[in-house]
Amino acid sequence: MAFPITRLRRLRQNEQIRSLVRETQLTPGAFVYPMFVCPGEGIRKEVGSMPGVFNLSVDEAIKEARNVYSLGIPSIILFGLPTKKDEVATGAWADDGIVQQATRAIKREIPKLLVMGDVCLCEYMSHGHCGIVRAAKAQSLGAAVAEPPAAATDFEIVNDASLELLARTSVSLARAGVDIIAPSDMMDGRVAAIRKGLDDAGLINTPILSYAAKFASGFYGPFREAADSTPQFGDRRSYQMDGANIREAMREIELDIEEGADMIMVKPALPYLDVIAAARDRFDLPLAAYQVSGEFAMIEAAARNNWIDHDRVMMESLISIRRAGASIILTYFAKAAARLLA
Ligand SMILES: [Zn+2]
Repeated sequence: MAFPITRLRRLRQNEQIRSLVRETQLTPGAFVYPMFVCPGEGIRKEVGSMPGVFNLSVDEAIKEARNVYSLGIPSIILFGLPTKKDEVATGAWADDGIVQQATRAIKREIPKLLVMGDVCLCEYMSHGHCGIVRAAKAQSLGAAVAEPPAAATDFEIVNDASLELLARTSVSLARAGVDIIAPSDMMDGRVAAIRKGLDDAGLINTPILSYAAKFASGFYGPFREAADSTPQFGDRRSYQMDGANIREAMREIELDIEEGADMIMVKPALPYLDVIAAARDRFDLPLAAYQVSGEFAMIEAAARNNWIDHDRVMMESLISIRRAGASIILTYFAKAAARLLA
C-alpha cells in the first residue's frame, strides 16, 4: 500500500511517538571513557587539541574515575605517559608502571568501575612505534635492540619478538587489577600470545577485547599529543590496516576470534561505519567501536566556532555508531553524553 494510505510522517508527529518507534537507543552503560595517566601529583593538564580531556596524575585520575562512575558509565580505558621511554617499553610492563599504579589506586577506591588496559608499546618506546624496531639490515634481534635506526628508511617493526613484550604487559596489567585487556598494537598473533601469557599466569578469567580492525588513520592526530606517542620516524602503515580494505578487516577479526578474543573492536568509528556493520553482520561476539580523538576534536572545534550544535552532533555521531552495530562505544564524549541521557 502506498500513498495516500501509507504516510510515514504519522509516526513522526511528536516526540512521544518518535520515542515509541525509535529503533536504536543510547545508554551510558554502553560507554567506555578513555583516560591518560601521567606521573606526579595534582596534575591536570588539558590536551590542546582535545578540550576537556586531560593528562591526569594518579590522584586526579581517581577523582575523574569517580565522576565517570557516578554518571552511570561502567568502564574506563587507561593509557599511560611514562617518566622514561626506552627500546623495550619497560614502562608498559613494569610492576610500578604508570597504568599499573593508576589501576591499583582506582580499583581500591572504585572497585566496581571496570578498568580496561590498552596494551601497546608505542607510548613507552623511545621511537614511538608499537613494536620492537630494528634496522632492516641487522642480523640478530639482540643487535637490533642495541642499535635502533636513526633514520626513517632502514627499519622494520619486528612482529614475533614484540609479542613477548605484549604478553608480559598484559600479565602485568591484569595482576595490577585491570579487568579487561585490550591490545591495540596490530602485530600478527598477539591475541594468542596474550591469551597464553594470561593463562600461564593463572589469569584465565581475564577477557581480551582486541582492537581487531584498527586502521592507519589521520584521525589519531590529537591522541598522539595526549599520549605523547608520535612515531619518531616512519609511520604505522606496516602494521595498522589500510583504510581501503573491508575484506581484510573481516580476516583480521576472524583471526583474533580464532586466537581467543572475547570481544572485538573497530577503530576509528565514523569513517568506518560500514566495517562496523559488516562485522556485526558476520560475527557474534560483543562488538566495540572507538570514536577516536580526531572524530572528537572535529566536533569540538566546529562547535566552538558555532558552525554546528555540539550536543546534537555529538549524540547523532554516537547513535550512528550504535546503529551500525557497535554495542560498546569508546568515546571522549562519554561524560557529556551520559549527562544528556540522565
Ligand atoms: Zn601503539
